[in-house]
Amino acid sequence: MNLAHLNPELETIFEKLDDAGLRTACTPFLIYRGRHRHEVSLEGLMRRAVDVSGLKLRHATWGPKELFYGDLYASRRVPCRPTSRPGTVDEYSACCAAELAGQRLFDFLLFSLPDNDRYSHRHGPDKTVDSISTADQAFAKLVEAAGGLDGFLTDYALILMSDHAQTPVHRELPLAAQLGQHWSVLQPSEDRPEGAQLAVSPTARAANVYLLPLDGSPPEHGAVREAIEAMDGADVVAYMAVDGAPWVREAPGPPPPGAELVARRAGVELRFRPGDAVRDRRGSGWELSGDASALDLELAEGQVRSESYPDALGRLWSALCAPNAGDLIVSVTPGYECVDWGGTSHVGGGSHGSLHRGDSLCPLLFCGCGPRSAAEREQWSLRDVAPVVLEHFGLAQARGPEVEGARARA
Ligand SMILES: [Zn+2]
Repeated sequence: MNLAHLNPELETIFEKLDDAGLRTACTPFLIYRGRHRHEVSLEGLMRRAVDVSGLKLRHATWGPKELFYGDLYASRRVPCRPTSRPGTVDEYSACCAAELAGQRLFDFLLFSLPDNDRYSHRHGPDKTVDSISTADQAFAKLVEAAGGLDGFLTDYALILMSDHAQTPVHRELPLAAQLGQHWSVLQPSEDRPEGAQLAVSPTARAANVYLLPLDGSPPEHGAVREAIEAMDGADVVAYMAVDGAPWVREAPGPPPPGAELVARRAGVELRFRPGDAVRDRRGSGWELSGDASALDLELAEGQVRSESYPDALGRLWSALCAPNAGDLIVSVTPGYECVDWGGTSHVGGGSHGSLHRGDSLCPLLFCGCGPRSAAEREQWSLRDVAPVVLEHFGLAQARGPEVEGARARA
């Protein structure tokens, strides 16, 4: 998620702060690219496995100044037992963070507490009082090491956030298997990948579907879309269109200028592209045609909003403009989860990843930084967090609406 998979043209928050000479730090979090080189440290079980196998593992990475990643990376010796085992990472993360705080070794810390997500996947979001209380204890360790709550809040600003929510899942959507009844779907470690007609990338409560150019001609877009729409659990199906016809990516990259996005749900269709006809709650402008009920959109006084699908237009547009996006994106009905490539799901527990509000709305709390009031924006987004951090360190101008961003993307 840091070298090959993370857009090299975008600077991470660590890179921006590193460039300004600030001391950055991160406890185990998947996206950590920064300006400091870290050699593999290999502790614990991982070291024993490598020692036994005789492997020479020398994979260095780029990260923040202080980086702790379980068995793999540790920028300094800390009295914390490295672990990647679910249910034990919060404690490790808190131990590393407390060591750094006790010695005043960071200006900016991304303090990650991942165990709640895993707990919720397994037991369901209704049971997360336990895992949230574990996270709370981990946070308390950091605060104690920084001099107690008063001292901590005197010396540091705090942003509390989660990167998504979860909803309970009761039923599987075997998207790849069902499409496999009509087309040949690329399998893991396929012997003859060139013989596949479709690639399916299930990402929990959403999926990307790619039409592959078998013998130069991919399967028919409309037929694949109809097959997906007929499945129990398919909610919003979206794709890009050019001159009214579905657009299929021939190589990684953005859609061509003039493309519009088609979002379909329950037999109705909405088309949209950046423009000036209506504004959404984040201030971005759009032109719409078709049936707004496809995304439960309400239109009033030039403004558009959706209770069911927060920031629906902006998020779908962004997802389908990603250079490696599928030719079709499916967002799944509440209660369902796509079966993953390993053939498993979190049925009986919780999951995330859809456009629906249940997966999408999450806490975002600023203390000692950020807006004076939540009313400063109609619709907050995780995209607002990095600018607040930069502003706090005097590295960015005040926050404005995203209208210019949407225009630039158009
Ligand atoms: Zn998760």
